Amino acid sequence: MEIACLDLEGVLIPEIWIAFAEKTGIEALKKTTRDEPDYDVLMRYRLDILEKNGLGLNEIQEVIATLSPLEGASDFIDWLRERFQVVILSDTFYEFAQPLMRQLGFPTLLCHKLEVDVNGRVTDYKLRQANPKRQAVVGFKSMYYRTIAAGDSYNDTTMLAEADAGILFHAPQNVIDEFPQFPAVQDFESLKKEFIKASNRDLSL
Ligand SMILES: [Mg+2]
Repeated sequence: MEIACLDLEGVLIPEIWIAFAEKTGIEALKKTTRDEPDYDVLMRYRLDILEKNGLGLNEIQEVIATLSPLEGASDFIDWLRERFQVVILSDTFYEFAQPLMRQLGFPTLLCHKLEVDVNGRVTDYKLRQANPKRQAVVGFKSMYYRTIAAGDSYNDTTMLAEADAGILFHAPQNVIDEFPQFPAVQDFESLKKEFIKASNRDLSL
């Protein structure tokens, strides 16, 4: 049996914080882990900005609902789910991803969670576990599933390495150069071919 593990942001949907910053015009929300490597400091900063701009969960979800999955992503997910059990492993939050997951037909998603009070104010966040993408693959392997994983960035590389086969998709050149052991493709047709190649079943239909 085989499970396909997919990263979400940059693979199926745009980077949510960046797209959200563009939609709302709040430039300060464009800060990423590249600017602030301490994730907790970055998240506190983001939650603080949301609060200062009067953005509670309802307002955030309204904005995110106006975003769309990347072109071709819905068709790709449909194609993949006919051939594999598909699990999306992401470092986003359920509450942020929800409006976009609706547009993708709600595939299985393992990610983090926000804490929201009765007034819709985002008060805190809960990480699912440490090194969550890799640990999910470790878990599937313990159930004797073969895993094929695809992602676009540094936070995917331990997942790709742990999987039976790892594929870089939409990765920037520095990641491709640093991890030459993984095939790297840039469009969904090529990604389908890599999944077919990585499978131990004959999927050439
Ligand atoms: Mg990504």
